[in-house]
Amino acid sequence: MYDVPSFLDDAAAPLPCRADPELFFAEDKTSREDAARICQGCPFRGPCAAYALERPQLRGVWGGLSRWRRSQLRG
Ligand code: SF4
Repeated sequence: MYDVPSFLDDAAAPLPCRADPELFFAEDKTSREDAARICQGCPFRGPCAAYALERPQLRGVWGGLSRWRRSQLRG
């Protein structure tokens, strides 16, 4: 599993990804794109993406970014 950043635990409103967590860790491209689309409306998108960018070991979509996209952004 993965550690959950405290800013997500402290969220006052339900997080969009909590409704269907498996979608965010699915291997297929369509699911990854669906998950990334859901992130677009999340107020935690920025910090969530930053959290994942600092942790290359994380799988799944975080802050609208797939693991592949995060790897690209790290260079
Ligand atoms: S940005 Fe996406 S993965 Fe991060 S908390 Fe929001 S819905 Fe979940």
